[in-house]
Amino acid sequence: MSYDQKIYLLGLPQDNNSSFLAGPALAPQRIREAFHSSSANLFTETGFDLNDSSFWHDAGDVVLDGLGGIAAFTTIKQKVAELIKGGGQVLSIGGDHSVSYPVISAHLETCPDLNILHIDAHPDLYENMQDNHYSHASPFARLMETGRVKRLVQVGIRTLNRHQREQSERYNVETHEMRDLSGLSSISFAGPVYLSLDLDALDPAFAPGVSHYEPGGLSTRDVLHLIHGFGGKLIGADVVELNPLRDPADITAMVAAKICKELLGRMITDNTFPRERG
Ligand code: MN
Ligand code: MN
Repeated sequence: MSYDQKIYLLGLPQDNNSSFLAGPALAPQRIREAFHSSSANLFTETGFDLNDSSFWHDAGDVVLDGLGGIAAFTTIKQKVAELIKGGGQVLSIGGDHSVSYPVISAHLETCPDLNILHIDAHPDLYENMQDNHYSHASPFARLMETGRVKRLVQVGIRTLNRHQREQSERYNVETHEMRDLSGLSSISFAGPVYLSLDLDALDPAFAPGVSHYEPGGLSTRDVLHLIHGFGGKLIGADVVELNPLRDPADITAMVAAKICKELLGRMITDNTFPRERG
């Protein structure tokens, strides 16, 4: 099979916008180690052999050298935009969830009808958190303010307070709260989809290596079913909020690596056999 699309794995070692704990800057390296661990193989469940170097390339980490705030965002956005403009697609790993703002902003510049599928315990819609507008609690407020996101669909949410419910209504967010997942099997988009996965969407029993424990979450299999099953064309993704300092025996790094394999498989599938519904 010939395969021409370039898919890049890109590490984002940044955690300057975490409201509670540092650690996610260490995540890219740990996810790579788990990804290549000889305890598992590199086949996706959907049948792609990720040993095949025509499927994806590791672009390394964005070099931030301790940069924080807007300077870090500018560097991240430039790197992602450069890869996209070269005809590539990006799966980014690591970072606190604030990195999704520059990464998705880069996508919005070349993809005007972008849908976002956001999997998280938290809606991350705070207008402001700890006087940091770019906190990891706010990226989807900043993105929705641009008016350029076609649809934002959130899954796994279980922390809505009054402010975030108001923000959710204000931006017409479609929410599948954890207390009612009956609509998951019908999630479908017309056009391109960017998937943002905060690992705290999973129950801490499955993914303890995160900064904010929120019990009552998704199983690893729930997330894999969603990755395999939603309608639409996946064109980019991130896996954020792994905190290796809280991850006994690299359990969560291995979950993140497994999810990355299936995200790569879904991106390859959608480039090869486009399936759009919705
Ligand atoms: Mn979260
Ligand atoms: Mn988040």
